[in-house]
Amino acid sequence: MKNIIILGSTGSIGRNTLEVVRNLKDKFRVIGLSSNSRWELLANQIGEFNPCYVAFNNNQLVEKLQGRFPPGKFKTITGNNCLEEIVSKQEADIVVSAVVGAVGLPAAIAVLEQGKTLALANKEALVMAGHIIMSLAGKDQILPVDSEHSAIFQSLQSGKPGEVKRVIITASGGPFYDYPEEKLSSVGPEQALKHPTWQMGQKITIDSATLMNKTLEIIEAKWLFDLTVEQIDVVIHPQSIIHSMVEFCDGSVIAQMGIPDMKVPIQYALTYPERKALKVKPFDLSFIGNLTFKKPDMEKFPALKLGYQAAREGGTIGAILNAANEVAVQAFLNGKIRFTEIVTYVEKVIQNHHFIKNPCLEDILAADAWAREEIRKCLF
Ligand code: NDP
Ligand code: MG
Repeated sequence: MKNIIILGSTGSIGRNTLEVVRNLKDKFRVIGLSSNSRWELLANQIGEFNPCYVAFNNNQLVEKLQGRFPPGKFKTITGNNCLEEIVSKQEADIVVSAVVGAVGLPAAIAVLEQGKTLALANKEALVMAGHIIMSLAGKDQILPVDSEHSAIFQSLQSGKPGEVKRVIITASGGPFYDYPEEKLSSVGPEQALKHPTWQMGQKITIDSATLMNKTLEIIEAKWLFDLTVEQIDVVIHPQSIIHSMVEFCDGSVIAQMGIPDMKVPIQYALTYPERKALKVKPFDLSFIGNLTFKKPDMEKFPALKLGYQAAREGGTIGAILNAANEVAVQAFLNGKIRFTEIVTYVEKVIQNHHFIKNPCLEDILAADAWAREEIRKCLF
């Protein structure tokens, strides 16, 4: 029996994680949950899973949440450091980090420092501070939840690290891949939030539409699997059936496939190195019909260029790119900027920033704060 804490349990990955755990009750005990605003859903989760700890940093709603339960049913952890505090509970074996954005970085570091297993969905932490996170992680201490990285992780088991030629990350292309380029600047949040193959939170859905999600995933792959930029390719694969591939030195290409369902990579991260039965939709290639592939269009989707730049140059660029993107996505969702301006603003902030080659955590957090301030100055 393993004790598990889920950061961001009310989100898309968080809810899928609880569904996985619900079916593996003899293997996992949920001892901690956390969310940010959706207190009623969190209350339902507490009622079902009976965690000992709940991290909830929302002063206005915390009383409502506690009012639902008899005193002492669980310990509530509040304050700005509540995620770091909850993951530090001694009983925890595995932490699933399914929060969105930079808020996940300090918690990811705390999990690793304490020798616990980190099932990582929160790619932003790696994008910001991959060199710090990987320096703290032991072998198999970080298990990828992101479907592409889970696919690469599974495919890598067919060879040795020195035998890897390159990885090929697949991308659905999002809702606008075939949309006329000249009309992209006028698409609104409602259109951008309709992802063709995955049901996800708002931020990653917009990132998928700009292809910034692939940008973040290039950087994520570089750190997780210790790859050079030249070893990372991206291919557009609209059906999202092949989740990614690894090409080995002898020309063999190993792909991991399946119906798009985040429960698969989540469960693999939790049960690794074992596999457990999971109910998924039938995998029927004759029904799917075609698997198609295209070269990504870097002119139409300039975010990808930034991913390669950030992966090549490293330093503070990842933190700057991530922070500027978080603010720009929110500004687009609030109707303040156009869809195509998301990447333009991110580029501008990267150009203006003072680059540090080997940043420590304080430098990273300062770069994050600077980028947020800088883009707000441009926006308002
Ligand atoms: P959601 O927006 O659905 O969920 C985010 C979760 O984080 C919610 O529980 C939310 O709480 C919580 N949260 C948000 N802000 C804060 C904060 N400031 N402090 C603490 N908790 C916070 O996102 P997703 O589940 O889609 O994505 C989560 C992460 O997983 C992202 O990094 C994403 O890139 C990654 N990912 C997601 C995939 C997917 O299929 N969804 C696939 C691969 C990776 P509340 O609900 O209460 O507001
Ligand atoms: Mg992904």
